[in-house]
Amino acid sequence: MPPESPNIPIAGMHPVTAINYPGKIAACIFTQGCNLRCPYCHNQELLPIKPGKVSLEETMAFLRRSKKLIEGVVITGGEPTIHPDLPQVIAGIKKEGLMVKLDTNGTNPDMLQCLIEEKLIDAVSMDIKTTPDKYGMLGVDMATILRSISLIGHSGVEYEFRTTVDGQICTDEDVAEIEKLTYQRPENTGFRKPFENKNIFAIVGILASLVWFLVSKRKLYWQTYWEQRLFDFEREHLPGLDFFGASQQRIQNDVEKNLILHKEMGWLQAIVYKLVLKRPSINNSMLCVPALFVLGWVGLLFSSVKPLM
Ligand code: SF4
Repeated sequence: MPPESPNIPIAGMHPVTAINYPGKIAACIFTQGCNLRCPYCHNQELLPIKPGKVSLEETMAFLRRSKKLIEGVVITGGEPTIHPDLPQVIAGIKKEGLMVKLDTNGTNPDMLQCLIEEKLIDAVSMDIKTTPDKYGMLGVDMATILRSISLIGHSGVEYEFRTTVDGQICTDEDVAEIEKLTYQRPENTGFRKPFENKNIFAIVGILASLVWFLVSKRKLYWQTYWEQRLFDFEREHLPGLDFFGASQQRIQNDVEKNLILHKEMGWLQAIVYKLVLKRPSINNSMLCVPALFVLGWVGLLFSSVKPLM
């Protein structure tokens, strides 16, 4: 027996959209049926689970005809993830060379995980409907929502989290709390790839710190050279000025007066003496600062800092 063809109820489609898939010209498929009943839903006719109005064959034929004009397909609803055949349907779309973005309410993390692991989606938009304490009003277990957020955040696909302020299940005040569910790092907002930004940030930091190090090193040589010249001048023409040729003890006494280091400060005092009192100018110790920054940025580059819980 030939394998059964996948089935999914399709309520309709937009042949072309420039806004539903940021940065791409796409077609938009609306699946029939949703497992939530958001009070503000503007797709009421898509909520009942019932047969669709457009067959999958018609839809695929349309996509084949349009694939030279569009770059991707947005699958929205309703709630697409309630349909078990979604992975097969998306696989068929991807075979046509089209990218796929999924819109979801995040209530089916198992389906999300399958789509991510099978590399079937290129982007995902998840609606976060409300705060954790109000999700119960929609009959949803918050643990499923948190799992979906985490899956998406670690997926490597482009993603965005969205919310709708309706004044009932989501108020202006709720937005900050919703934001906390997804927002731990500044780059984790908007429609973007989460780890790219961290790496670019770290690479720019490494380059800037290296430039800082090299400039400081060069300045060290120049400064040493000019200090020697001034010391020679002082010794020849202004003996006893005791400025550029000041002894270590003299420098230490003068600087101590200004740093108020009369109290015993233990290891802190030892560090200050080593770094500040060694020479009254930039010295090798100061090169440690940009060097430490380089190490810090390299650490960030190779770290597994995650933007999400
Ligand atoms: S999840 Fe979307 S389609 Fe379903 S009820 Fe809410 S707004 Fe409507």
